[in-house]
Amino acid sequence: MEIAERVKKISPSLTLAITAKAKAMKASGIDVVSFGAGEPNFNTPDYIIAAAKEALDKGMTKYTPVPGMEILRKAIAEKLSKELGVSYTFDQIVVSAGGKQTLRNAFETLLNPGDEVIIPSPFWLTYPELVRLSGGECVFVETDKSSDFKITPESLEKAITKKTKALIFNSPSNPTGSVYTKEEIKAIANVVEKYGIYVISDEIYEKLVYGETFSSIVSASPAMKDLTIICSGLSKSYSMTGWRVGYSAAPPNVAKAMSSLQSHTTSNVNSIAQYASYVALTDKRGEDFLKEMISVFDRRRKLICSLVNSCELISCNEPKGAFYVMVDISKTFGKTFEGELISSSADFCRLLLEKSLVATVDGAAFGAPNFVRLSYAISDSDIEKGIKRIDEFLKKLK
Ligand code: PLP
Repeated sequence: MEIAERVKKISPSLTLAITAKAKAMKASGIDVVSFGAGEPNFNTPDYIIAAAKEALDKGMTKYTPVPGMEILRKAIAEKLSKELGVSYTFDQIVVSAGGKQTLRNAFETLLNPGDEVIIPSPFWLTYPELVRLSGGECVFVETDKSSDFKITPESLEKAITKKTKALIFNSPSNPTGSVYTKEEIKAIANVVEKYGIYVISDEIYEKLVYGETFSSIVSASPAMKDLTIICSGLSKSYSMTGWRVGYSAAPPNVAKAMSSLQSHTTSNVNSIAQYASYVALTDKRGEDFLKEMISVFDRRRKLICSLVNSCELISCNEPKGAFYVMVDISKTFGKTFEGELISSSADFCRLLLEKSLVATVDGAAFGAPNFVRLSYAISDSDIEKGIKRIDEFLKKLK
């Protein structure tokens, strides 16, 4: 069968592919250390699992409203109103199958053919695929290590044209771990308001910040709420990646349109996962879980950064959020490992996996060909073991 042009152009998610390859190698008995993980290595808290069982026992096994159970949407609206200081009502919330579906709904709802979407680079690799799938054009704004991978009001303004429809804003960021300050966000919001463009604000890592305070672009000014679609979910904050619960918060007409779209694609999210998410968000035990998870990630973040920066040829900035670190490997280009030349981040990743059994993600997939991404959602001992192998690999380069 002939595949449609639209879908032919999509590349499968590299991060999921690397994780799967490392898992398969491990399963066949190979001692791989994988820095590919895109999910917290914590179990979903017991009280959330108990809520899912309760949902089953109570017979919550039927269709729910397409945008989600009212109790869940009310809990999300209350959470956002309280935490962001901007008032949301439940009819502005659409619950979807993970953060990914909220993004897909958002692009599909906003974009007409040829509309431009500004994507700060490095970027999460799903954004360009989703923009193109919805008929949009990607406009990348380059950032670098020296500015902690952040766009500025000036670089944003330069990228805006008559065709610009939206900016994707992701703080804390995957892959860079950068977190924008309130002042930096205010300056970006001023440009957004000046041109009346929209913002897709991906806030899925909002809870995972270290020594910084998370700030949402909707809080920057009263106008931003009407220009922004928040895309978020429970995958990372509550370690619920497999449950597939995300949510968007948007102006009421946009929320309605996103819900109409979803009514013909996936309908409601699994009813049991929805009830468990309601309990996740409203039970006080969530706070203790988060505190513990943040302190563990913070410890690992410091550990991995100090180990990476003590290796020759590679270096990294200390990220302020999420659980990723971008490692600059450009000084290895032109060197050889056992006679094999490293001329790209792809070569580096392949050789490191094949020769030293360490899985990393090629930065080129995120628009950062001088880098590899390491996730520190793995144990302290695996971090130590993995970086030791990288150090030995680097010492053998000629
Ligand atoms: N946004 C970013 C930046 C992510 O890194 C991810 C997952 O890796 C998502 C959205 C999607 O999360 P979910 O698993 O809820 O679809």
